[in-house]
Amino acid sequence: MTARIIDGAACAARLRETIAAEIEALPASARRPGLAVVLMGENPASQVYVRNKGVATRKAGMVSTEHRLAADASEAELLALVASLNADPGVDGVLVQLPLPGHIQVARVLAAIDPDKDVDGFHALNVGRLWGGEVGLIPCTPRGCMKLIAEVAPRLAGMTAVVLGRSGIVGKPMTQLLLAADCTVTIAHSRTRDLPGVCRQADILVSAVGVPGLVKADFIKPGAIVIDVGINRLDGEDGKTRLVGDVDFAEAVEVAGAITPVPGGVGPMTIACLLENTLIAYKRREGLGG
Ligand code: NDP
Repeated sequence: MTARIIDGAACAARLRETIAAEIEALPASARRPGLAVVLMGENPASQVYVRNKGVATRKAGMVSTEHRLAADASEAELLALVASLNADPGVDGVLVQLPLPGHIQVARVLAAIDPDKDVDGFHALNVGRLWGGEVGLIPCTPRGCMKLIAEVAPRLAGMTAVVLGRSGIVGKPMTQLLLAADCTVTIAHSRTRDLPGVCRQADILVSAVGVPGLVKADFIKPGAIVIDVGINRLDGEDGKTRLVGDVDFAEAVEVAGAITPVPGGVGPMTIACLLENTLIAYKRREGLGG
């Protein structure tokens, strides 16, 4: 069997077009949705992410602002910046790019973001809303994964899902979204016994670990949907960096029914879902539904 490749880049492009069309259709006098991104320090990967987010935001017709702080700025300065963005009526989404320098208490910063502008969905109130089945803002990567799964399986009720990885930004919210879609869900992690055996139960296997090539053919039930969230940078012999996922793609593609590639799978969906969350936050703040 050769798996169907789930094209995350195409799916994300469609979502971005839908969002842009909705913004284009706003009355000329209406305020445009605004996303503010805070970048602290010089982390090269974060700089690329922030730049890409800015480009995508502007392309969608939204207002994008970037706020940079030096790596040695104080937590008080960062919290004051977040407070000013919370109070800014033109800002619908506030995103503080992670990771933050070691002297900053991440939890304190995330807790300072207005939950209704928390387009990353990391605020404790949004975590609670997700688990309580209430309306909130859903973390972008798991949200994107659900859309990719929907590309190949419109009805998930009764399916067995295994989420590999239990982080607060991917694994745990992913679990909750699959549960809400009536899957029977197992969450696996570094202490799970017989990882291949547990994963092989899955009709839907989502891997969010950060270990290149961890998921081999013997982790995969024939015909399963495999969603590879992992982004791992490997140095090639030519001196260039190569992006790979958690899944050994060459092996998995022969067993799975459908699979996301890396790059071009989950990654593009994360940014598209950030735009979607910003539009949702805007619509709620403007009383337009959402
Ligand atoms: P974390 O490091 O926070 O979590 C990793 C999880 O994987 C942990 O639960 C850990 O278990 C588990 N784990 C680690 N090693 C193993 C192993 N050998 N076997 C089984 N489980 C293991 O990572 P994130 O959730 O933040 O990110 C995961 C991956 O997804 C990374 O590659 C990251 O770059 C990528 N990512 C991609 C995004 C995208 O847009 N495509 C967005 C966000 C992340 P334990 O809890 O026991 O330590």
